[in-house]
Amino acid sequence: MNETLKKAAQIIKLKKEYLEILAKPQRVVMVNFPVRMDSGEIKMFSGYRVQHSNLRGPFKGGIRYHLGTDMTEVSELAFWMAIKCAVVGIPYGGGKGGITVNPKILSLKELEKITRAYTRAIADIIGPQKDIPAPDVYTDARVMSWIYEEYSKIVGKKTPAVVTGKPIKLGGSLGRDVATALGGVYVLEEIVKLQNWQSKKLSVAIQGFGNAGMNAALLLAERGYKILAVADSQAAILCQNAQRGFNIKSLIEFKQRTGSVKNFPSSKTISQKDLICSPVDILVPAALGGLITKDDAKKIKAKIILELANGPLHEGTDEVLEKRKIIVLPDILANAGGVTVSYFEWLQNLKNQHWSKEKVFDELKKTMDKATRDIWKIKQQYHTDLRVAAYILAIQRIVKKLKI
Ligand code: NAD
Repeated sequence: MNETLKKAAQIIKLKKEYLEILAKPQRVVMVNFPVRMDSGEIKMFSGYRVQHSNLRGPFKGGIRYHLGTDMTEVSELAFWMAIKCAVVGIPYGGGKGGITVNPKILSLKELEKITRAYTRAIADIIGPQKDIPAPDVYTDARVMSWIYEEYSKIVGKKTPAVVTGKPIKLGGSLGRDVATALGGVYVLEEIVKLQNWQSKKLSVAIQGFGNAGMNAALLLAERGYKILAVADSQAAILCQNAQRGFNIKSLIEFKQRTGSVKNFPSSKTISQKDLICSPVDILVPAALGGLITKDDAKKIKAKIILELANGPLHEGTDEVLEKRKIIVLPDILANAGGVTVSYFEWLQNLKNQHWSKEKVFDELKKTMDKATRDIWKIKQQYHTDLRVAAYILAIQRIVKKLKI
């Protein structure tokens, strides 16, 4: 069972039976399906969909294509989605799906055939009021458009609300591309306000310079934060001009042109560990999970860690950081902007509406600000860290819906 869930349950003295209900997925589905490959060979693939909980609304969560994807991984992620949706107060339960496959060796035609076959295999258990998939690792808007088409064929009517993260012209929402980073920035700004700090004086290091990290860098720089260090999988770099920080637009253009941040002019190459422990106010993990160890936690100099990545900290790291009074803005809150705008996309599809980018950002800000304040209040009430506080809030919201 998830350790944070146990800890949160203990603090609020949750009934043992309720804890068991929260920890177990409602439904676990495995499907096996054949696909004819470009070579003419027929191959079998295994896919999964775990529906953790629909107590607060339809199941919701991404679909990943990865060789390492299996039922254990998908189940854990489905649980996280249930907690995440409850934390930001959107009316969804949690789900997750995936196929064990290496998408990098597939042709586009094979990728499409696999997606359509998987959709047919799980069509009975998904739907706008049942379970709404979205993109995740190695799936994107195009994959979502195939699911949308295939599902619509099966039910006999156009059903865009069956998936989110679609291309805009097929009913996707404006602002989805920056939603994760922007949601995180809203959470950070609320905490900066609560601490009476001034954003213009704060410096930042960002680990990971892909969708989440790049957008976060841009949004933070626009708000006056100084980005002093960034890293991608090839290199970590430190800005030589500590007064001004990186010019993020040039850095993005450089990364897009060369494939890495490595050797960006006026930067110095540092080690990945140096980036984690660089002398900045805010550290933003935005790469893969599990890259920050307990040992790193003893040396981190930042006052705040904004977890845009899922699960960037090793187990036991939270306790070290809490003792050192470093504020961790946990992933289930900090990167929930993505699922929140997915919810807005679903609402627009159901009501046949098209929201402007301003409306999407405005609604996102209201949602993230409220969740941050709610969790901060619980942190103070129970004298605990923000991750445990977020779990407490989620547990309370889910348990309220239990009818037994
Ligand atoms: P991405 O693939 O676009 O970017 C990942 C970045 O991390 C790349 O720049 C890569 O070079 C870098 N990286 C990989 N290994 C690294 C290492 N060892 N050290 C330093 N950098 C490394 O992925 P993304 O969509 O930006 O997602 C990043 C994280 O945010 C993931 O943990 C993901 O689960 C989480 N997340 C993303 C979204 C979203 O909407 N994009 C939503 C929720 C959570």
